Amino acid sequence: MRVLVYGSGQLAQMMYLAAAPLGIIVSAVDVVTETVVNPLSKKATGVSLRDAIQEANAITVEFEHVPEHLLLDAQKSDKLYPNIASILAGADRVREKALLSKNNIPNCDYLIISHVDQLNDVVARLGEKVIFKASRDGYDGYGQWRIGSASELSALREEFSLLDLEKVPLIAERMMQFDREISLVGARSKDGQVACFSLAENLHHEGQLHVSVAPITNLTDALQQKANDIFETLATSMDYVGVLAVELFQCGDELYVNEIAPRVHNSGHWTQQGCATSQFEQHIRAVLGLPLGSTELIGVSAMVNVIGCSTINRDLIGIPNTHLHWYGKEVRIKRKMGHINVIASSHAKLGAKLKQLIEFVPVEHFPKLEGEAIRLEKS
Ligand code: ATP
Ligand code: MG
Repeated sequence: MRVLVYGSGQLAQMMYLAAAPLGIIVSAVDVVTETVVNPLSKKATGVSLRDAIQEANAITVEFEHVPEHLLLDAQKSDKLYPNIASILAGADRVREKALLSKNNIPNCDYLIISHVDQLNDVVARLGEKVIFKASRDGYDGYGQWRIGSASELSALREEFSLLDLEKVPLIAERMMQFDREISLVGARSKDGQVACFSLAENLHHEGQLHVSVAPITNLTDALQQKANDIFETLATSMDYVGVLAVELFQCGDELYVNEIAPRVHNSGHWTQQGCATSQFEQHIRAVLGLPLGSTELIGVSAMVNVIGCSTINRDLIGIPNTHLHWYGKEVRIKRKMGHINVIASSHAKLGAKLKQLIEFVPVEHFPKLEGEAIRLEKS
């Protein structure tokens, strides 16, 4: 069987690696050159995109910002999973907010800004602490602006007046005072079955994910169930097939959806060693119509992103149950280079292992590691 993935970065690479033991071949599409490549070597396979679409049993995406004409072409084959509307809901914050409203899913209060004059209402409607997000093409905190007081708005007004807001509106969102950020990664099969992974707790720095811990500390059945219900409502309403990530803000017992990602997700990488089935294999299973795998936990996991540096000591894999996943990319500031999965039998033991890990990495590139190690060790 063959799966064609639009996008040829690390997510396609990890789908390729997860599918190989099942005898399933994954090819990737470089969406800039529209070339079919091997997801590992990134070398052209020599197969045309048209033939690759023909040969594929399923077509999917590793990110939501695939040019729309490519998605429309893929859709014509009737093999695109998730469907195009789901992908676009993840790619466009205006559609995403409409989806959340339609399903009565709690999310952050917001205004859609398609003209600078609408900025006049922002503070009165949302308060002084506001985050502005480009409705399309943002990721890892790019395409975002924050204000902490009304006086900061005038500088932004100038900046926003240079943007084509009618074409790409902004979402102005109330800054939430959440207790923590968590995410629910799950899958829905073609016959409507749903399998959710344990909630993961996500630590961000400058708008970018640095560390995930799963399951979250102090997880209750009620909270997991609430998140699973949100997942099922959204996935069912979109007739979604594949892995879907839902980013959430937890405030007490309440959950607010921040955004959704119609694909495998960085906050689900821990499933590679922390779960009976990884999110990558699960996605491949779902889009091919194979039975979903078990989401049973192997232990307590941490996923630590390696961002903007390659000078880690690879001997870190000597820490028991510690695994390195390297993407093979050139180093750039804020670029995700790889990740480290650490598994332990309890949160406290996981904290102790993260403390050990500190010895093997340049700490200035891991601003969340030590604090999280200390927090977990005490838990
Ligand atoms: P990703 O790479 O996850 O797609 P992104 O750049 O698309 O990120 P968001 O997830 O919307 O954008 O925002 C990035 C981070 O900014 C969030 O994880 C959260 O830490 C913070 N953030 C976003 N919206 C809010 C909000 N309304 N209130 C408080 N913090 C927020
Ligand atoms: Mg996000």
